[in-house]
Amino acid sequence: MREDADFIYEQVEKHHEWFKKSLPMIASENIISPMARELLISDFHDRYAEGSPGDRYYQGNIFVDEVELKAQELASDLFGAEYADVRPISGTNANQAVLMGLGGPGKKITAVDVSDGAHISSAKFGSVGFRGMEPITYPFNVEEMNIDVEGTKKMIKEEKPDIALFGRSVYMFPPPLEELRDAFEEAGCYVWYDAAHVLGLIAGGEFQDPLREGVEVMTGSTHKTLPGPQRGILLSNPRDEEMKQKLFYGVFPGVLSNHHLHTMAALAVSLAEHQEFGKEYAKQIIKNAKALGQALHERDIDVMCSHKGFTESHTLAIDVQEEGGGETLVEAMEEANMIANKNLMPWDDVNSAKEPSGIRLGAQELTRLGMKESHMDEVGEFIKRIVKDDEDPEKVKADVIEFRNDFQEIHYCYKEGLPAHERFSFLDKYD
Ligand SMILES: *Cc1c(COP(=O)(O)O)cnc(C)c1O
Repeated sequence: MREDADFIYEQVEKHHEWFKKSLPMIASENIISPMARELLISDFHDRYAEGSPGDRYYQGNIFVDEVELKAQELASDLFGAEYADVRPISGTNANQAVLMGLGGPGKKITAVDVSDGAHISSAKFGSVGFRGMEPITYPFNVEEMNIDVEGTKKMIKEEKPDIALFGRSVYMFPPPLEELRDAFEEAGCYVWYDAAHVLGLIAGGEFQDPLREGVEVMTGSTHKTLPGPQRGILLSNPRDEEMKQKLFYGVFPGVLSNHHLHTMAALAVSLAEHQEFGKEYAKQIIKNAKALGQALHERDIDVMCSHKGFTESHTLAIDVQEEGGGETLVEAMEEANMIANKNLMPWDDVNSAKEPSGIRLGAQELTRLGMKESHMDEVGEFIKRIVKDDEDPEKVKADVIEFRNDFQEIHYCYKEGLPAHERFSFLDKYD
């Protein structure tokens, strides 16, 4: 019914208004650039493309193929990967493609435990389990908020997994890939790196460089620190042709049919923009995350790993057990227009995922809005007024709105470009 359609528009409009006045700090989110966003309403959305460029199951892909080839080329360049597959439609989908190609019942896989920050797709109750496998989890060092090097080395040598997976959604520090290299070689396992969170930092040259550190296949989401559309990517320097084929067929027909061409075009533009602005952006993200950690620490908030500068990525983990727990506090923050998520801490039971003792914060979107280190001190103060002072969220909200008013532009991307309806003549049909 028409009223229902109007109702939906109203809700989205309200959402826009709210987010314009809020501080977005969910570590897995970002804002797409104006040029990339325009492509999301293009006619690419209305089409199908199965297979790969030049080898399609449908006609009508002449220009789609040009875009896909360009996206592959940009991704190969940016990540130094011989094989770049830009078809996965999310990070989880890219992970499923790897599991389809390299995994399967009877195969052994090692991974980070969910309460130590791993993503559900690497868990028994997620994609790994769906492929008929159960991960063996690495020993973890809570003090360092990283996997335990010696324990993991020993475990890989003993277990001799088929696949060793590294990836986390609370990803402050790089896993010790170099130190584990001889264990990988001894086991002969595929080394797989899930870079969902840190993809943009890796592309900017500001985190570790997994494909140069013994990793053979890397997956990721393209909308977290890489500020592109909601989508995924698979990158590999395969050990041999057989591995490459397994990954290629793992993506299609393994886990995909059509691959959402409008977001593929948006991804290509985002990769081009990241080539130009990615380094500067990644640097500022990390500076801001460290500055926010410091600001909170100075205000007596328990940010993990103060002895290591809090983080080497965009993410901070905060222990708020004593202040009332993650759930209560992120709800209060939301009332004050600060958007963050509650998060499991290593000592939490996985079954308590709804009432964990931590909060996870990301600096990547605040950075994209043009904020620098000095602004992080102000953000830290807003958070402290909720977390420590238990101040009325309405009062904090008023100050948040005023502060955010100065940050309405999107940075680290091309500014020029026509609005979509001037750029794309096909939109006339909607007049
Ligand atoms: C976010 C994330 C993913 C995939 O998320 P999508 O929402 O499917 O893109 C995969 N692995 C890790 C470690 C993540 O943090």
